[in-house]
This record gives sequence, C-alpha cells and structure tokens, in this order.
Amino acid sequence: MKITDFRVCTVGTGTGVPRVKRRSPATLVKINRHLLLFDTGPGTLRALEEAGRSFRDIDYIFYTHFHPDHLSDLVPFLFVAHSPDYGRKKPVEIWGARGLAKIYHKYVEIFGHWVELSPSELSIKEIDSRQINNFEVPFGKLITYPMYHTSRSVGYRIEIDDVPYLAITGDTEYGENVLKLARNVKILVAECSFPDPKEPRGHLTPSRVGRIAREANCKHLVLTHMYPECDKVNLFEQVRKEFDGRITVGRDLMWIVF
Ligand SMILES: [Zn+2]
Ligand SMILES: [Zn+2]
Repeated sequence: MKITDFRVCTVGTGTGVPRVKRRSPATLVKINRHLLLFDTGPGTLRALEEAGRSFRDIDYIFYTHFHPDHLSDLVPFLFVAHSPDYGRKKPVEIWGARGLAKIYHKYVEIFGHWVELSPSELSIKEIDSRQINNFEVPFGKLITYPMYHTSRSVGYRIEIDDVPYLAITGDTEYGENVLKLARNVKILVAECSFPDPKEPRGHLTPSRVGRIAREANCKHLVLTHMYPECDKVNLFEQVRKEFDGRITVGRDLMWIVF
C-alpha cells in the first residue's frame, strides 16, 4: 500500500484527572483516507473538533481497555451518531477486548434506542486480550498484544507492507509484550503516568518507558497519559537517561507527521 498521508494527533494526553492543559485519553491516527481513534476519554468528541476533525469522520475506534477515562465518550458518540440532523453518514467499526459488545448492549439497555446504531452503521469487533492477534485491515496489518494493566488491556501495533510504523500501548507497565508491541516501530505512543522515582503498578514512568523504547529499538517515542505530577518535573530529561532516540513529551492536539 502506498502511503500518501500518515499522521498521529495526541488529542488528549491526560488521564481521568480533570486538567486545563491535558484532556482525557484519545489519540487520532490518519493513514491515507482511514481515520482511526484510540480511546474516547471524557470530552473527546469536542476535542476532535479542536483538532480540526469530527466524530463523523472516524472510521474505527479502538479501545485499549475499559476504564472510564478511556471509554466514557462512547455514549455521547453513539447518541450524536444516531441524530438524524447531526449524525454520521458512514459506518464505524469499534474494536476492544472481549466484553465490548456487552458494554454496548448495557448502554442500549440504559439509554434505549437513542444510543443504538443499526448493523449497517456499527460493527463491534472483540479481541481476545489474553493472546497476540493478527488482523488484516484495509490500512495494513493490525497486531494486538495483551498489556499489563487490567485483564482486558490491549496494545495496538500497525505494520504496512511489513514495515512497523506505530505502536500504542494504552495503560500498561513494563513487560515482554510491550517490547514485542514496540519492536522497531517508527513511532511509539506510550503512556507515562508518573515521574521517576515512583514505581507504580500497572503504569509506566520515564525510566521504564525510555527503557522500552531503547530495548525495542524505536525511532521516536511520544509520551501521553500524564498524571499532574508529571508536569512538575522535566520528563524529557528523565527519559533521556534511558533513550537516545527522538523524544516528544506529548501535548494535547499535537500532530506528528511521518
Ligand atoms: Zn486504566
Ligand atoms: Zn488510564
């Protein structure tokens, strides 16, 4: 596949903690004409407008896991998608670990047909989050890995013509699967929840994420998912101790073009 346009937007680089400067988790990826959205934290639909895109343009939503700070704008998405005047005109595929269809059906149970899309408008793809999976998709190859956060946490890797382009960790801690996920990618979008010397369970810190980027031989590391403590230190310097490649401390609505 000839790539004419490949770009990533760190729409929201924060967490579930409300901040002026850091929106809740969402990452947008554009590969040629395909628009992919990873996670929909609270406020993502509005943040997409700020990024110059719309919920109407999204072709795929991928969930890294089902914590509310990553999931919760799914309800407003379904609601507005359904609107006859303001809604969507094309189908959407929503991917996530097993249990995603159940979550959707629960929403329909709670909010009624207002959030229900027809099978021609919505397809739900469930991933077995306990194993590595390979999918052939219209924008290349999508490989998923179990991450170390919840039992249903998924990391996503995109390869095009066997070239590893992008990996998105979602929430995770250090481990073998993260190294496989990130192996040789051009861009690793990785969570970096807390600064060093904290040693959190289920999350990464600058030294850990730097170690991953080094060991996995990534070209460009982009940090996201920062709790407020992260903005009190120099994350770049902390990562630099471990990783010699390109480092970007993510900011909201930042576009990275390949
Ligand atoms: Zn989480
Ligand atoms: Zn999170």
